[in-house]
Amino acid sequence: MVIVMQASASAEDLQAVISLVESSGFHAHINDGVERKVVAVLGEVNIDKVELVEHFEVLPGVEKVNLISAPFKLSSRQYHPEDFIVDAGDLAIGSKRIVVAAGPCSVESEEQIMQAARAVRAAGARMLRGGAFKPRSSPHSFQGLGEAGLVMLAEAGRETGLPVITEVMDAHDLDMVCRYAQFLQIGARNMQNYTLLRAAGQTMRPVLLKRGPGCRIKELLMAAEYILCEGNDRVVLCERGITTFEDAARNTTDINAIPILKELSHLPVFLDPSHSTGERRWVTPVAKAAIAAGADGLIVEVHPNPQVARSDGKQSLHPSGFEQFMREVRAVAEAVGRTV
Ligand code: PEP
Ligand code: MN
Repeated sequence: MVIVMQASASAEDLQAVISLVESSGFHAHINDGVERKVVAVLGEVNIDKVELVEHFEVLPGVEKVNLISAPFKLSSRQYHPEDFIVDAGDLAIGSKRIVVAAGPCSVESEEQIMQAARAVRAAGARMLRGGAFKPRSSPHSFQGLGEAGLVMLAEAGRETGLPVITEVMDAHDLDMVCRYAQFLQIGARNMQNYTLLRAAGQTMRPVLLKRGPGCRIKELLMAAEYILCEGNDRVVLCERGITTFEDAARNTTDINAIPILKELSHLPVFLDPSHSTGERRWVTPVAKAAIAAGADGLIVEVHPNPQVARSDGKQSLHPSGFEQFMREVRAVAEAVGRTV
């Protein structure tokens, strides 16, 4: 249930609503909207909550009360009608200007991450990606350099002036990862790791949350809800391809997810065309489709020498390919009234 306050509601009106929410056994979450405040009433849905509607409707300053039937509340547009901009340093994610995060799948060496950072920066990326903790399908594959990789990533970020994003796989690593990275990534395999989601929420760092390959759109929004519930509103949703019967590509890019997520939620939406396709030559066309469909940003794998990459070389762009990628993405962005 959300309680929409009148634009003219006073602080006392709001406080009276919050008091009734809390004394009825629910939690109140307040969205300070541009025009009006919205109070989300959180807690288990039961008949009492439905009956409460009429008590709230008559309180001074209340404009209307909406029962939200969806199991996600704080991530829903009913709670937050305006698009939300995730501010992270100089970046405003979800604004007219599209944000491209680029870099290798894994941090492999100082030289590799520095070369990648310089190349992506020169071509117009505004965030550097690089994994130090890698969720590999096989335990025998390269698992990432751990903290040593984070040190190299942070240094490359500092040198190029790019904020860095990296995956955190375990809640115990959060403090360490936060010492090196401005932006946290929760990977597709951990989308439903609720302990990790809550702990990432408590860091108050911006989080890029990737959709699990077998997860529905509403499950992604419920996963986001775990982070938002901790009071951290800086969540970016990321489509990265899902598993379907089609096996021509590594995954199936669910382009539908972009306009659907933008309709259901106020949170910015990214696409990862590298993991969603698995092939270098399909990355640029699919990235362009995402921008045309309304994505707010892209996260893409770029390696100075993909032939020797320790993970995901096949889908990683060469620096020259990334320059071309940026040119083509920019043209599509401009065609839909955005910039890069
Ligand atoms: C990655 O970004 O390198 C990664 C492992 O992505 P995903 O979680 O989408 O598989
Ligand atoms: Mn990868």
